[in-house]
Amino acid sequence: MRITDVSALVLRLPDVTDACDGTQDTCLVKIETDSGITGWGEVDSCPSVVKAVIDAPLSHQICNGLGNALLDADPLAVEVCMEKMMSAANYYGRAGVGRHAMAGVNLALWDIAGKSAGVPVYRLLGGGFSTRFRAYASVLFGDTPSETYEIGRKFADQGFSAIKFGWGPMGADETQDIDLVKEARRGSGSEVDVLIDAGQVWDWKTALTRAHQFAEYNPFWIEEPLMPDDVAGYGQLSAASPIPIATGEAEAALEDFERLIVAGGIDWVQPDPGRCGISTMVAAGLVADRYNRKVVNHSFKSGITMAASLHALACLPNASIFEFCMSDSPLRHELTHERFTIDDEGYISVPEGPGLGVTINSDTIDRYRVL
Ligand SMILES: [Mg+2]
Repeated sequence: MRITDVSALVLRLPDVTDACDGTQDTCLVKIETDSGITGWGEVDSCPSVVKAVIDAPLSHQICNGLGNALLDADPLAVEVCMEKMMSAANYYGRAGVGRHAMAGVNLALWDIAGKSAGVPVYRLLGGGFSTRFRAYASVLFGDTPSETYEIGRKFADQGFSAIKFGWGPMGADETQDIDLVKEARRGSGSEVDVLIDAGQVWDWKTALTRAHQFAEYNPFWIEEPLMPDDVAGYGQLSAASPIPIATGEAEAALEDFERLIVAGGIDWVQPDPGRCGISTMVAAGLVADRYNRKVVNHSFKSGITMAASLHALACLPNASIFEFCMSDSPLRHELTHERFTIDDEGYISVPEGPGLGVTINSDTIDRYRVL
């Protein structure tokens, strides 16, 4: 089998705001082959820049667009394809958006491999530790503590056993920070796990102070309290925090996950397959397992990213919960024909169809495609 075309499709809602909500746009990766099998991936990055990385014309030996680099390659040789892309992007894309674009390709390659073999990706990767995970509702904080109370109540009433509140006003004011967590807990009730996604707002000493202040409300974890590169700060914080620390959504390279796990001492690592690829997500999760830490997905995109996350988690012995993005964006819900649902016990299951196990709704692409 040979790759005949790699394309990037940018989809965008008509109105995009500055809310920290990644479901307002997306970049899909489509890989076509001479066998007729098409693979789909998705990237969580800056969509138009990802498209430029994939479409770029040849500049010189180690500076080429990812699409060019993969033309005529065997898509089943996933690692060979990854190496071809690292070489093509050597001059411009070894980190950041270059790696993100490769991640989207990695998803599409695994989709092709699974479809070619007629099995779901997690089976191809030798997984199956678990095929269902407890879903936590992932939402943003309200603009005020009282709005946050209402949000907690709403999702607890829907039956979720865990709710994550993120970003928004957290970090602006000490009293308000505490009130946000207090109201998140009060709205969610004592039986529900409350997860706090701070949004890179503190230095490690302030984060440690907040962790002690939040402790009486018993958060499940504090996520991304520091800037992504403050590995030394994570080391200090994780060693002293009374609440588990989670982070990793910003990383794309295995060595960066390993640094956060070992030097940063974090309790939960959170790879996003749309930034690091399924291959690296599984590898990062296994590193976490080696150090007796846990892995959970970061996913705030469409059903493609949801499916990729589920397949990767199914390959890991230390996965148990799943980020279930509650955005009502049509890009979140209408890009795949499959709708991901939560069962009566609050769990989500890995798709069992071949490849990623999702099929693409071309009407949604036609409606929202801008590039
Ligand atoms: Mg987060």
